[in-house]
This record gives sequence, structure tokens and C-alpha cells, in this order.
Amino acid sequence: MSGRRTGLPNLIDPLRLCELGAELVGEYPLAQMPRLASLLVKANEGVSVRLAFSIDLAGTHVLSGQLDTEVELVCQRCLEVFVYPLASTFKLVFVTNERRAAEIADDLEPFHVTAEPVSLQSLVEDELLLSVPQVPRHEFAVCPAQRVVQQSENAAEQHNDDRQNPFAGLADLMKRNKE
Ligand SMILES: [Zn+2]
Repeated sequence: MSGRRTGLPNLIDPLRLCELGAELVGEYPLAQMPRLASLLVKANEGVSVRLAFSIDLAGTHVLSGQLDTEVELVCQRCLEVFVYPLASTFKLVFVTNERRAAEIADDLEPFHVTAEPVSLQSLVEDELLLSVPQVPRHEFAVCPAQRVVQQSENAAEQHNDDRQNPFAGLADLMKRNKE
């Protein structure tokens, strides 16, 4: 049986969803994710969530997920707010004990489950947190701090020109030769 539905449940039984081959599609408001929201300027967007639960040929319970949103962060170079496309593609393997975790391939992320239901929203929040840059910054070329550096360089050149010293160019040349 395979079920696809829109809308995300709060608590899930991940092993059962894998057995069902369930696909879940929906959206969570970022405002409902306090750990993530605390890192953002504003948390008024939603995160688009697509999840596919399955059991692979080795009998492993797998969750493949794709998360997409845009968040506002503060650039640590210029301290201005900028929009960062926050996306995560992940693959989790549900494991029920440590030994099973040691057996799974290195490129897969183990997620320990017990008899207790799992908070799906918290799982999604964890994956998003892994994708938030530790030191958020604009792309260098578009960062206003970079423009300030360029402006002060231009201003310095302008200042040199204003002096109208006919030997300024020569002095620069000699200085450059010494270096
Ligand atoms: Zn910046």
C-alpha cells in the first residue's frame, strides 16, 4: 500500500510509515520552530516539506526528504539583513539500537527510534538547523561592506588627484620599484 497525502501530522510512527511507503507533502510555519526562529530576523515564512518513507532492498527503513524555504539572516560582514534560500535534501535511516547504527553505511544519517512516536516537526527543524550557515554572509560581490571598501579606495585616489602634484606619479613608480 502506498499513500500520498497533503498535510503533515505532528507525531509519526516512522517505521510504520516506511512499511506503508508513505509520502507526506505539506508546509510548516517557521514561527512554530523556536530553535530555528531564534536564528532568523523574521520567521514569517513557511517551509515546504516533501518526505518519502520506504524500506530498501536490505530491509533498512529510510526517509528521503526535501525542504525548501527562504529566511532572513544578518550578514556578519556588513550587519545588513539578507534573504538566504535555505534548502535541505537529506536521507535518514531509522535504527532501533546502537548495533544497527554501526551497521549502516557511512553516508547515511542514523535516526534512533524507540516505541515512542517521533515529532515530525522537530525532525524537520533539526534538518533545517544543519543547513543554516554558521557565519551568515552575503555573496562577497553583492555585500555592501565590499562597496564601502571600494568607495574608500576611490576616495583615496580622488584625493591624490586633487593634489595636482606632477611628480606624484613618479613617486608612486619609485615606491613600487623599491617594493
Ligand atoms: Zn553583507
